[in-house]
Amino acid sequence: MRIQLLPSTFDAQGVATLEQRLTCFLIDDCVAVDAGSIAIALTNEQRPKVKDIIVTHPHLDHIASLPIFIDDLYPTLKEPIRVHATHEVIGLLERDVFNWNVYPRFSDLKNDYGPVMQYVPIPLGTPFTVAHLTVIAVPVNHIVPTVGLVVSDGQKSVAFSSDTAETEEFWKIVNAIKELDALLIETSFPDRMAKLAEVSRHFTPASLVQELKKLNHNGMDIMAVHLKPTYREEIIAELKELNIPKLSVMEPGKLYSW
Ligand SMILES: [Zn+2]
Ligand SMILES: [Zn+2]
Repeated sequence: MRIQLLPSTFDAQGVATLEQRLTCFLIDDCVAVDAGSIAIALTNEQRPKVKDIIVTHPHLDHIASLPIFIDDLYPTLKEPIRVHATHEVIGLLERDVFNWNVYPRFSDLKNDYGPVMQYVPIPLGTPFTVAHLTVIAVPVNHIVPTVGLVVSDGQKSVAFSSDTAETEEFWKIVNAIKELDALLIETSFPDRMAKLAEVSRHFTPASLVQELKKLNHNGMDIMAVHLKPTYREEIIAELKELNIPKLSVMEPGKLYSW
């Protein structure tokens, strides 16, 4: 399974910067987990290949350029972009984003070929299929309805925590996977901002190391993601101090294979 955290900003030479402002993971060129930077980072060649987007929650850093992505492809889509999300998240996207005020309700619109956007409600706790992948979603502990995911391609399995603080069900599905290859887990704030992390339901390195005690560590790669760009270096320094085996920070723009 190939996973790329799509960059959200580029320097003056057009090279991706390491700061992760928006969240969007591209899996095997065709499935996205969240869509923060989807319309910004994909090339013209990559863009038409993405037909399925799993939205973990409706926070702006996870959906910022989703409406623009569909808008860009609008005239050329021969099948709809499928947005996979829980009923609750679909309701929030319809109410707050695709509401004719912020942007058009694409799920009601058709181009010359047919519908351009289709919601696919996802179940909680039971596997469902997205393209060639099998996915399990469970609620995690964030301030809006949010799911964590385990994604498998039949060979490899990768878990995505999405945005969360201490949580339980996620670890049950993660620990139930025989061979998990990678865990992508959020670490949003440095330790000195533990209060803010607590009220906004995110991890700091100190709370992450506590949380990882719930993980049956079988040697999988642990990738820290969702580092707030302002504190990136500080968070990285604190993570290093923890000496967690196989922990590293995921780099936007780099292609990872498992
Ligand atoms: Zn969030
Ligand atoms: Zn976020």
